[in-house]
Amino acid sequence: MSITQDVSTRKAAIRAALKRRQANPLPVMEQFYTLQGEGIWTGTPAYFVRLAGCDVGCHWCDVKASWMPRDEQYLDVAEITARALASGTRRVVITGGEPTVYDLSLLTDALHAAGLIVHMETAGPHPYSGEIDWICFSPKKFLPPQDIYYDLAHELKVVIYHEGDLAWAEEHAARVSAHTQLFLQPEWSRRERITPLLIDYVKRHPQWRLGQQTHKYLDIP
Ligand code: SF4
Repeated sequence: MSITQDVSTRKAAIRAALKRRQANPLPVMEQFYTLQGEGIWTGTPAYFVRLAGCDVGCHWCDVKASWMPRDEQYLDVAEITARALASGTRRVVITGGEPTVYDLSLLTDALHAAGLIVHMETAGPHPYSGEIDWICFSPKKFLPPQDIYYDLAHELKVVIYHEGDLAWAEEHAARVSAHTQLFLQPEWSRRERITPLLIDYVKRHPQWRLGQQTHKYLDIP
């Protein structure tokens, strides 16, 4: 399949998924209880719900299998919530894929009703929905975010692929609130080259922190 065909097939699947926004079921690629590997909550236990469906298209994406939702992946929010509760977790991280493809209202209502704290990791390209207690906003160059995520972000995580991305990161940092935690994270395949640059940059710009994908070093999901 050519790249053009692949993109058009994926867009058709995303359009179909968008039509199901109001529906109860959501496509879940995987869900699992682990320790959070990135950002300010690193090392804390969390139940991850990885929704399938993403139209952002980062060329370095490490979960390309999440881009295309499949019919057999759809689960009712009650089932997703029951599985999260059964894990013993207190926090659920909704990730993707790109979770804002979907209306998350019913899912976040169900998770809150079960007494769980709800986080989300998003590039922010689609409207905000539901009630999220903690938002990790990670804008991507490949599909611009919606403005609301600059106001809502508790955490700004900018993935750095090359040195020129630092100026782009500063453009986003200038738009979030003063309370937003700022992370620069080396893109995993480029970590050996980029990490020393980020260490030097963070020392000179201490409003930032160095973000690391500790779960990959520890070989946990
Ligand atoms: S937004 Fe996330 S899931 Fe989508 S392509 Fe980029 S890295 Fe992959």
